[in-house]
Amino acid sequence: MARRTEHALVGAAIGAIGGVAYSMETHGLGNNAAPAVLASVVVGTISGCLPDLLEPPRFPGHRGVFHSILFLGVLGAGASGIIRRLEESDLEPRLKRLYAVLVVIAVLGVASHLVLDWRTPMGISLAG
Ligand SMILES: [Zn+2]
Repeated sequence: MARRTEHALVGAAIGAIGGVAYSMETHGLGNNAAPAVLASVVVGTISGCLPDLLEPPRFPGHRGVFHSILFLGVLGAGASGIIRRLEESDLEPRLKRLYAVLVVIAVLGVASHLVLDWRTPMGISLAG
């Protein structure tokens, strides 16, 4: 079983990379970058731990639907819909891009969790 800190650190790293990339593209890495990078790290950390928050690892075999490829697919489809709605919204372009980056980080955070759990003897399932 991958440890909680490992999930959190990998999710945070994904968030940090996404937040820095967004900030560099949008306005450089000055003081304006801190809120976006912080939000990205928080989203990455939480999403990296999300499957275990929904199905706490209290016993072997705890991995159900939230530890499955199906869940990742549903999450990806939902993220796609959210991003499409963001594009059609009246939000400021900079905010649209930030929210889209946060949505992608959330999906990648969950994906990182599943990859880390997949490499363990218990693995993950297709549909729970
Ligand atoms: Zn897990």
